[in-house]
Amino acid sequence: MMSLAEPYILDLAEYIPGRSVQEVKREFGFENFIKLASNENALGPSPKALIAAQGALRNAHVYPTELRLELKHKIVHYLGIDEIGPNQIVLGNGSNELIMLIARAFLGPNQALLNTWPSFIVYRIAAHSLGRQEFTYPLESTLEVDVEKLLDLAKRHRDQIKLLYLPNPNNPTGAYLNAAKINYLLANIDPQVIVVIDEAYAEYVTAPDWSTALPHVAKRPRTVVLRTFSKIFGLAGLRMGYGVMPSEMAQILHRIRDPFNVNGIAQAACIAALDDAEHTQKSRDNNAKELPRVAQALRSMGLSVPLSMGNFVLMTTNNDAEPLAYSLLERGIIVRPVKNYDLPNSLRVTIGKPEENDLFLQAMSDLML
Ligand code: PMP
Repeated sequence: MMSLAEPYILDLAEYIPGRSVQEVKREFGFENFIKLASNENALGPSPKALIAAQGALRNAHVYPTELRLELKHKIVHYLGIDEIGPNQIVLGNGSNELIMLIARAFLGPNQALLNTWPSFIVYRIAAHSLGRQEFTYPLESTLEVDVEKLLDLAKRHRDQIKLLYLPNPNNPTGAYLNAAKINYLLANIDPQVIVVIDEAYAEYVTAPDWSTALPHVAKRPRTVVLRTFSKIFGLAGLRMGYGVMPSEMAQILHRIRDPFNVNGIAQAACIAALDDAEHTQKSRDNNAKELPRVAQALRSMGLSVPLSMGNFVLMTTNNDAEPLAYSLLERGIIVRPVKNYDLPNSLRVTIGKPEENDLFLQAMSDLML
């Protein structure tokens, strides 16, 4: 009998999302949980986005084509880079969809992914779901990327490597590559390699030597930047991300995407969210203030917490961190174990509102005694 699916698909592990509040409520039987597991915006969506989404529901019977172009124009204006126009933007059902689409469009049967590890697991899923090979550059012990070593690996396998996904900042570590390193990488990697810089957390970055790779899209042909509305814009549940790329690449993705891949409610909400600079600023300020406070408090409890430029921190203990995650759940706090990122002793914790962070830190200090 023919096998049900190709072996590389049967071998895939399912993506495990952070545990939902509903799910842990059912398991633990009490009401109040704080979710610090999925790098969502603790302040929620912009009130303006909510109003726009409600309004858009009235058009739920219409296919969502009306606002696509308006949203792309808004994004172009928001990015503020002269060389980038709306024909270089591809909208996706979350940036997840774009990660999958890019692999499907550009990674041919004998071509391979170059992946830093640990990095966002969907890059790996995208390549493996197509049966494509992955060359893995393991992060240094500092959790950073040594660009020379990455370039060496790319050079050694230059006949196969076609695609590099590089999150900046990285998830789950929060580490970032500064502008000089990105410039060097893009100037020296084989021009045939499609380099996708995933800037999901761009708006949270405070490091002065970080810079967006967007200007490179206009300069180096096979360069893509991914962004999302799931993080600072607080709209993870509506699923909207976008890729900025040369129009030639955008046209190829338009041929293979679902024609109605982003829904009308999300389009309306995202347009309004881009207009709400006040909400974005509040979200940025909360993170800029709270992240160093949480990181420092955890370090003073003896945990290792690297510098993070995202809206989360990675904390590492001396042994298996799953029991700690469970003890936090018993105290009503959901964090993210990262065993599936080969970091069994670590947990990833999203930065919440000040009062949520206080409760988390209190629980941690009780458990670390
Ligand atoms: N890239 C990175 C680095 C992420 O951490 C995430 C979300 N966890 C995504 C992309 C996907 O975001 P979304 O599909 O919600 O846009």
